[in-house]
Amino acid sequence: MDAEQLRENAHKMVDFIADYYKNIETFPVLSQVEPGYLRDLLPHSAPDQPESLQNILDDIQAKILPGVTHWQSPNYFAYFPSNSSVAGFLGEMLSAGINMVGFSWITSPAATELEMIVLDWLAKLLKLPDHFLSTGQGGGVIQGTASEAVLVVLLAARDKVLRITGKDALGKLVVYCSDQTHSALQKACQIAGIHPGNCRVLKTESCNDYSLSPETFEQAISTDVASGLIPLLLCATVGTTSSTAVDPLLELGKITKMKGIWLHVDAAYAGSACVCPEFRHYIDGVEEADSFNMNAHKWFLTNFDCSALWVKDRSALIHSLSTNPEFLKNKASQENLVVDYKDWQIPLGRRFRSLKLWMVLRLYGLENLQSYIRNHIQLAATFESFVTEDPRFEVVAPRKFALVCFRLLPPSHKDEDCSNQLNRDLLDAVNATGKAFVSHTALSGRYVVRFAIGAPLTEESHIIEAWKIFQEVATVLLKSLKM
Ligand code: PLP
Repeated sequence: MDAEQLRENAHKMVDFIADYYKNIETFPVLSQVEPGYLRDLLPHSAPDQPESLQNILDDIQAKILPGVTHWQSPNYFAYFPSNSSVAGFLGEMLSAGINMVGFSWITSPAATELEMIVLDWLAKLLKLPDHFLSTGQGGGVIQGTASEAVLVVLLAARDKVLRITGKDALGKLVVYCSDQTHSALQKACQIAGIHPGNCRVLKTESCNDYSLSPETFEQAISTDVASGLIPLLLCATVGTTSSTAVDPLLELGKITKMKGIWLHVDAAYAGSACVCPEFRHYIDGVEEADSFNMNAHKWFLTNFDCSALWVKDRSALIHSLSTNPEFLKNKASQENLVVDYKDWQIPLGRRFRSLKLWMVLRLYGLENLQSYIRNHIQLAATFESFVTEDPRFEVVAPRKFALVCFRLLPPSHKDEDCSNQLNRDLLDAVNATGKAFVSHTALSGRYVVRFAIGAPLTEESHIIEAWKIFQEVATVLLKSLKM
């Protein structure tokens, strides 16, 4: 890397990115291109000779940006947010600049040690129990995604049990979740060799707001034990993907503790809100969890990817995931003086991700982070009031954080199929305007619009505008149904 070339080109790139953010509202939020659009716009093979940065930036403007869905747009309300911030960006930039590969302590001591310290800081902001801190038996690690987090803890839990029962018991291990748990758990079960019939997807009821009932869980355990199966792990969620339901950790934790079942808490989205004292109660009971995960890259101003995972007993992870080839041996590792994060994750190589989280914590400070979360939750309450004030719509799940789930009601003589199609049409028409991007889910068999607030640039004016679009589209759709 030539330092002067970097200086010159990186300045140009920062200018380009700053202009992108300045103009972000001029792009359709959801990319409107057709599949395969790019193939005809770019040459069929890589250039023989170097090209200028300016030519490439011109191509990005003309050919790439039209195919980008703008997750950082203030009019982005789909899925869950994936925040960026100046602080997170600077951390990413520094990480790219240093570009080390910190799999073992010795490969960059600062990378491992900063990660341990920053995750201890974050654990303290979330008031996680002391056993999750690196000073105890557990500790934190940054994974790429919540999917990797649940996979590694499932492997740790599986191997912990199989060490006692013998490997032949693999087919008897049962994993529990609810019908609202993220599909990442199902994928983890597939990879971990859990028998496909032994992933218990427990039904939630709409009347209990889509959270998992401890009685349902207990009953399932009894049935499985009576059949000679071995309950292994429960994945409880704080802030489910469809409707941000919260599983009751206190009650579920009592059961898992009594039965010796690994409790994993997936707070990928809502974990961020728990730095605010008024929302911390949602993770009450985390004291009984064996592992806890939140995605700082969702709603905590930390650029993708940064999924924080804490475990109560790090030796379980290490037992499951460590390897010790000759070419990686070194004195600090051999003498057990250090943490080698390669043994806490699937890949060997790892990026210096703690830098961006450290930047976020320091450049914002807790109070600003709390205000940031509170503002989005307040905006969601405002949006929810818009929905409830219009009798043509209904809110379909209780709002806890910054997600509003709602639907357009069909005319009274129409059935559920018609209602679902009406809401599909509503969503497609709103997204086709390019002025807002929303996504959907199914709750109790109904097609539901999810309006997730959480992009850093979103202000009240944006949600007012988005609601106007919903109302206008609804008027047109309902009129066409009457004809
Ligand atoms: N868990 C929950 C509750 C989620 O909402 C999501 C994604 O939105 C995930 C897990 C999966 O996240 P990731 O993409 O980090 O694997």
